Amino acid sequence: MIIDIHVHPFYKENRILDEMARAGVDYAVLLAVDADPMDVEKPEIRSRLRARHLESSIDFWGFQALSIEDQIKKFFQDLIIYYPNLKSSNQEIADLVKKYPDKFIGFGSVNPNKDEDYVEAKLKEVSDLGLKGIKMLPTLQMFNPSENKNFERICEYCEKNRKILLYHTGCDPGPWENPSLSEDANPKYLAKVLETYSPTIVLAHTGSYSAWKPGIWLDEALELGRKFDNVYFDTAAVSNIIYSEKTLKRIKEAVGLERLLFGSDYPVVWGSDMKYEVNVIKSCDYLTDEEKERILGQNAAEILGMT
Ligand SMILES: [Zn+2]
Repeated sequence: MIIDIHVHPFYKENRILDEMARAGVDYAVLLAVDADPMDVEKPEIRSRLRARHLESSIDFWGFQALSIEDQIKKFFQDLIIYYPNLKSSNQEIADLVKKYPDKFIGFGSVNPNKDEDYVEAKLKEVSDLGLKGIKMLPTLQMFNPSENKNFERICEYCEKNRKILLYHTGCDPGPWENPSLSEDANPKYLAKVLETYSPTIVLAHTGSYSAWKPGIWLDEALELGRKFDNVYFDTAAVSNIIYSEKTLKRIKEAVGLERLLFGSDYPVVWGSDMKYEVNVIKSCDYLTDEEKERILGQNAAEILGMT
């Protein structure tokens, strides 16, 4: 069984289902994103991001002339122009799962910059809609996990309700290719909250995604995994780094391959798709058949309670 733990429903569902069939993927985890570009106008967020933006004078995506606030707003606007059929709300994800329960698994999302009532209402929504996990992105959602009370609450909720927390680590496209701006997505900031709460947490991209510095926070990701055995890793958008002899050996020694999960990040990685990503693992010379089976599906099935 093949489970893709990291899929964005940015295309109409038939296109996603066709790609799954082509790649031999049995289940796709569809991810919601609850982010508000206007949060960048909150004084504490704005001043933090401005300071980080100034740390770096390199123009990572050609929009350095714009203020950081405008870059972030432009990123969200462009996303919708590029993917007009994009779905991102908890309700939209739940509707897709309801329509194709044998193909899709849904993860919701909660914006941690809103007030406590908002967060509680969203968590209730995740429960009511039967979503299996929560996707969080310190980049697009502009928060630091070591100093955000709502994020602590989300970790507590995931632990108590056995929801998977799929948590973005590493850089992100657009303005977040600037590593300073993605600083909050360094896995090291999770250590504090994981001392208190023990959700099953999957570090998306294994701390490694960065066009500028590939493998940027791989060390920090593995360090966190060594410390907490509820920390898992997906290889979305970083298969070129992870499935090398050297990196697999490091992961094996640090945490074991039982905590590594296949994710394609479909359709957002340029020059890649689900089929390509499945083949990277299937054709990897440094994994046994049993390890391939684990990574492609068995590990995910176990944490999702599907076995
Ligand atoms: Zn992604």
